[in-house]
Amino acid sequence: MTELPAAFVTMMKERLGPEWPHFYEALRRPPVRGVRLQRFGHAANPAASASDGLQLALAHATQTAVPSELRAQFLNSIPWYDDAFVLRPDSLLGHSVWIVNGACYIQEPSAMAVVPALDPQPGEWVLDLCAAPGGKATAIGRRMQGRGLLLANEVHPTRVRALVENLERAGIPACITQAQPDRLADALPQQFDAILVDAPCSGEGMFRKDPDARLHWSATSPEVCAARQRQILAHALRMLRPGGRLVYSTCTFNPIENEQVVTWALRQFPVELEDLPTWPGWEAGRPDWAGNSPVSHELVKTRRLWPHKGVGEGHFIARFRLLDAVSETSCKGSIRRTDRRRQARPRPLPRRADRRQTSRLTADWPRWLAELILEEHIPPVWRNPYSRGPQLYAVADGALVADLEAAGVHVVRPGLWLATAADGRYQPQHALAMALTDRVARHPLILDEGDAIRYLSGESLADSGQRGWLWVQIQGCPLGWAKGVAGRTNNVYPKGLRRTDLVRLTN
Ligand code: SAM
Repeated sequence: MTELPAAFVTMMKERLGPEWPHFYEALRRPPVRGVRLQRFGHAANPAASASDGLQLALAHATQTAVPSELRAQFLNSIPWYDDAFVLRPDSLLGHSVWIVNGACYIQEPSAMAVVPALDPQPGEWVLDLCAAPGGKATAIGRRMQGRGLLLANEVHPTRVRALVENLERAGIPACITQAQPDRLADALPQQFDAILVDAPCSGEGMFRKDPDARLHWSATSPEVCAARQRQILAHALRMLRPGGRLVYSTCTFNPIENEQVVTWALRQFPVELEDLPTWPGWEAGRPDWAGNSPVSHELVKTRRLWPHKGVGEGHFIARFRLLDAVSETSCKGSIRRTDRRRQARPRPLPRRADRRQTSRLTADWPRWLAELILEEHIPPVWRNPYSRGPQLYAVADGALVADLEAAGVHVVRPGLWLATAADGRYQPQHALAMALTDRVARHPLILDEGDAIRYLSGESLADSGQRGWLWVQIQGCPLGWAKGVAGRTNNVYPKGLRRTDLVRLTN
């Protein structure tokens, strides 16, 4: 095991004093893995009906109870997150169909504390600014129940692919962008009700879970990261509507990136801190680590999660409320642009009329959709999708996509990818299969665990005798599509997603 960096040890000994031996001992213990349920349980939304104009997805849970082989993987529940559990240390869940089909997401318990602090609501406009690989974006999406708008952004081109995969496998409708925060803020000033800044950080809190984090750390990392965090936070605040909330989180212990960045924001912007709950193992932030000024006394409202006190890794969480709009001019001097040569773009207009493009659609789209999904459950925006060439998407707001593209933002997915049109036919997308539930799919093909593993590896299926597009499922949870043609059932599981390493959880 890579040793802890010497400068980190010196620094933490000094900060923690008599607590240091407990902290050090905790870092030598194996990390705890947690798991969130994403398809079973109470997040089903019986109140949401297809008549709700903003509804982008179906009530997001199966009718099935958590299968016993899955339940057998869990130890105790995680107090600050509904439907989350500590995973048995020997569990093979990570190599099971239940991860591939998005029914479960493995996440360390402290990271699960962030989304409840943001408390995203169905119908809100929510931005996850630093979103890959999507641990928090998927949790936000589940809470939003397919209503409102989730914009998940990631700057890094390879990491954005993991973000797309994780959101799609969980069946979550989201607009996914790859942009620097300043560019996004130019396009979408004061648009969001809630913003998450899960900031890139020096990663000290991950030293136990990910020994590589120890190699990437240096004594100057916290200062370098804090400069970037201040930039990101300033641009994020420009995108928040007055009265909106912003959660700032890191997975580092370092006060330079935590209490000191928050104190800087309190001085610089019209924001106040809001108190967060205290669960076992959580502690208040430390005003004494940010100069003990009158402003920094507010830091007791922030939270620190410690590995020697709680079940998870190191994390820091602060929740701001925006009291007044933040404009680009009002944060001049505190922000740096990614491209200094770029001229200030004209302010994007307030929300324009939705320019949904339907011209490419033929009249048989609603009929085709109703072949796959029980008609009364089809969300309205699916009936009138947004088209990008032959690709058809369910988007929350076509004007938002247009604003983003006009501002030069790379929109990786304008929304949930429903289908592709070619030669007068429609091909259902994998993302659509993952967004369906057993309440609504018209032609299910039910597999057991062994067959599901074979299907996910790309093996041929036995002829089911059914014709047309079949929604392949296990215990009410989606796996993908198959197509029944004369004498056979074709496996159309996407080649790029095939897995040959999966194991059974049932005996
Ligand atoms: N929220 C994610 C999750 O729960 O899965 C984890 C996010 S990770 C802590 C921080 C992310 O910020 C990384 O994906 C990283 O690529 C991204 N990032 C790095 N530099 C950035 C920048 N200058 N602006 C915005 N995001 C940045």
